[in-house]
Amino acid sequence: MSDVIQTLSETVWGGVITPADTDYDEARAVYNGMHDRKPLAVVQCADAGDVMTVIAAAREASLDLAVRGGGHSVPGFGTVDDGLVLDLSKMSNVQIDPVKKIARVGGGATWGAVDHATYPFGLAAPGGIISTTGVAGLTLGGGIGYLTRSVGLTIDNLLSADVVLADGRQVTASDYQNEDLFWALRGGGGNFGVVTNFEFQLHEVGDIVGGPMFYDFNDAAAVLAGYRDYIAEAPEQLGCFFGWQIAPDLPFMPKDRVGDLLCVLVTCWNGPHEEAERVLKPLRDIAEVVAEHVGVMPFPALNSAFDDAVPKGMQNYWKADFITELTDEAIAIHVEHGARTPHISSSMHLHPINGAAQRVGADETAFGHRDKMFSPVVAGIWDDPADNEANIKWVRDYYDAIHPHSGSDGGYVNFMSDDDDERAPANYGANYERLAQVKAAYDPDNVFHVNQNIVPANGS
Ligand SMILES: Cc1cc2nc3c(=O)[nH]c(=O)nc-3n(C[C@H](O)[C@H](O)[C@H](O)COP(=O)(O)OP(=O)(O)OC[C@H]3O[C@@H](n4cnc5c(N)ncnc54)[C@H](O)[C@@H]3O)c2cc1C
Repeated sequence: MSDVIQTLSETVWGGVITPADTDYDEARAVYNGMHDRKPLAVVQCADAGDVMTVIAAAREASLDLAVRGGGHSVPGFGTVDDGLVLDLSKMSNVQIDPVKKIARVGGGATWGAVDHATYPFGLAAPGGIISTTGVAGLTLGGGIGYLTRSVGLTIDNLLSADVVLADGRQVTASDYQNEDLFWALRGGGGNFGVVTNFEFQLHEVGDIVGGPMFYDFNDAAAVLAGYRDYIAEAPEQLGCFFGWQIAPDLPFMPKDRVGDLLCVLVTCWNGPHEEAERVLKPLRDIAEVVAEHVGVMPFPALNSAFDDAVPKGMQNYWKADFITELTDEAIAIHVEHGARTPHISSSMHLHPINGAAQRVGADETAFGHRDKMFSPVVAGIWDDPADNEANIKWVRDYYDAIHPHSGSDGGYVNFMSDDDDERAPANYGANYERLAQVKAAYDPDNVFHVNQNIVPANGS
């Protein structure tokens, strides 16, 4: 095996980090602190040539290959024991074409880098709600965030991707070339190759009006119902998700509420500022707002506002569904389990995926659940591994109780844990069979299997 590492060290331009290096522990660490895996080497690729070299080395030595963008995968797909980690974090360049409103983004960039590069032009690409998340994993799974209702999922704004395939070729996938690959990349995860560059359509987003509005837990059922009813019809420039939140000790939080379990609506209005109060009023009218931090702010400020609440290295265990209808019965179950939210970083988030996201056909991209109203996630996030059992139990009990009310077997692949791998067929619904065929065409030997795996149609 040392021959492989030796050859990689001599050929890779970026860098090869092995257990013998002092920065090995830092290099192998991924976001979810639960995954303490020990790869043979972390290869920090500098360019597509390095990517080709690492894929070839893994194949020749029959080593498991983990591909890492931002490293945020809750199941820890960005690392592997006794295999190779292909780390793209050095390939994080972001270039903006302000005339065509296009961003070209390296396969290892984070959303913070994209926001930073697009904001000065008054533009943005639709990413998620945390700036440290990787562009690659989030995009390849679908991409849900503040702009979903107005401009669609992240994949709905993907124009093309440069991909190094399992056989070492680099191709471009778009509506005009390798169309089957482009279809599969938009939701099918890291199953088809290593994306070295993404090209996104940008949209006019500068300073938004938004931020969190907090309500007393006793009003939670009313807030969930009022939010459900309003977000179904609200202007599409309004992004807004619901969550449970133990009140943080921040300047806008009344001192006597710090530590209380509250519920929160996090808003993002990307329309004319003078209309913001009118648009947000129905949410304010649901119940008394006990604290808020809503105002005009740069879009990147909202996108990074909660980064500190969920730092790298904590324990993470998540469960997810898609839901068609949030019934009153389901709301009662949410309130029952939300009441036991065990940690300030844990929550259940309810993200709307209506509006522009629903105007894309279920078979137009691999992301098949285009008729769904919400993408909920029960996200258990806590510090101490000694508390794993209790926190995992909270997530499982909550999920077991709410899942029968989802009206769907599938969920968002990016919001799942490592014990959800068998859910892949349900997560893609009618698109799964086609995904398995595209997988067989581009990765018949399943080289890219450290992911929520789509088994090649030929059964490899
Ligand atoms: C704190 C936090 C907040 C989040 N918020 C959101 C959100 O608002 N919206 C949302 O939609 N999701 C969100 N997610 C989920 C997120 O989309 C997934 O965790 C996603 O997989 C992260 O991508 P990554 O590149 O950081 O992860 P990684 O762990 O690096 O990779 C995830 C998967 O993508 C593959 N992959 C990575 N890079 C490449 C590449 N260049 N080419 C091919 N395959 C690649 C990996 O092999 C792996 O299977 C969040 C996750 C966390 C932990």
